[in-house]
Amino acid sequence: MTPTANLPWLARTRAALWHPCTQMKQLAATPPLPIARGEGPWLIDYDGKRYLDAISSWWVNLFGHANPRINAAIVDQLGKIEHVILAGCTHAPVVELSERLARLTGLGHAFYGSDGASATEIALKMSFHYWRNTGQPAKTAFVSLKNGYHGETLGALSVTDVAIFKDTYAPLLRQSHQAMSPDWRLAEPGENHEAYALRAAADLESHLGKHAATTAAVIVEPLVQGAAGMAMYHPVYLTRVRELCDRYQVHFIDDEIAMGFGRTGTLFAFEQAGIRPDFVCLSKGITGGYLPLSVVLTRDTIYDAFYDDNTARGFLHSHSYTGNPLACRAALTVLDIFEEEAILAANFAKTNQFTSILAEVAAHPRVSHFRNTGMIWAFDVADAMSGFSADFHRRALMRGVFIRPIGNTVYFMPPYVIGDTEMRLLAETTLALLDR
Ligand SMILES: *Cc1c(COP(=O)(O)O)cnc(C)c1O
Repeated sequence: MTPTANLPWLARTRAALWHPCTQMKQLAATPPLPIARGEGPWLIDYDGKRYLDAISSWWVNLFGHANPRINAAIVDQLGKIEHVILAGCTHAPVVELSERLARLTGLGHAFYGSDGASATEIALKMSFHYWRNTGQPAKTAFVSLKNGYHGETLGALSVTDVAIFKDTYAPLLRQSHQAMSPDWRLAEPGENHEAYALRAAADLESHLGKHAATTAAVIVEPLVQGAAGMAMYHPVYLTRVRELCDRYQVHFIDDEIAMGFGRTGTLFAFEQAGIRPDFVCLSKGITGGYLPLSVVLTRDTIYDAFYDDNTARGFLHSHSYTGNPLACRAALTVLDIFEEEAILAANFAKTNQFTSILAEVAAHPRVSHFRNTGMIWAFDVADAMSGFSADFHRRALMRGVFIRPIGNTVYFMPPYVIGDTEMRLLAETTLALLDR
């Protein structure tokens, strides 16, 4: 095990900081892994022991740790300007990034935040403010999906539906409506994924039919509900959400914070439904997992409703690090890598290859609902006991794999630089842990 004695600061981590998403008392039994450096899909501790980063460091990393191209771009930018206020100033990286994202999404007017949750807040506020500016101030409600996740600041948590994160804070939150999830695991026997997605869309329709006059927007995670445990669904659901939002005059907010930048196989998940949302929220992979950056893109017609002589009709929201140049350069390099290294085509081949490597896992008697979308694989362990997730995590670490099941769902969401050998390690480790 790790030589804690040689790392005096490791023992102090519990006293010095409050780790995220962690009951600090449990950290006494399972101390965090001290990471010295990273290399491609690997995390390396102070003994030189390597751990395969099978969850892309919480879904952010795309092209590996210490990626030479992204490193070089950030170093180059450091010699120019590290940060400048974006109110009253502008800079080349933020303009170029905004233009490229607009070309790629068909939406524009990039508004930047730092974390994913702030992008959710921005989209919710913009939607409400649009309706107010256009004479419909009664449209103040939001609809999201059962088991959906959009971040944990109070506004974002109001549209999140994960009990462990939400219930405690319920008295602080605005009410919002959760429509039926299109998660195909919930289909009736004999009902296919598409039929189930359409049934879920009918549930949304019945809500909008009654409440459209007071509803500003529907917010969804496209194709995969990540924090719900990689719940996957048929793209027809998104097509129907688009139709319903048009019919009932409600905005469609597409939260691609986790699923954007190639995770689902296409650059953005909404492409698979042949639609365009009213707002797209991006973060996580946008900088390749290097720096916090988020952005909301929207339609011209929405932007135009804010454009006025009256200051208060404008969108006066701000964050200190809005449009940080270092983060924008990392993001521009991510887009260069996608284009110049034909990443989506390469990932398409990897998806097929890894799915076949995982065939034995999929067929394991303890495994149910084996599923895959793009560069995400997941399955449920039907007979998982309480403590399964922490136990699986700990035993995988001993075998050199960093993985964090969600409840009884084990998932792989590796950096795109993962290769055949590493994928086999993941499959072998998983089989060994399942067999025990
Ligand atoms: C992670 C996530 C967020 C929140 O992003 P943070 O950077 O953690 O605030 C919002 N929406 C989705 C779908 C996410 O996966």
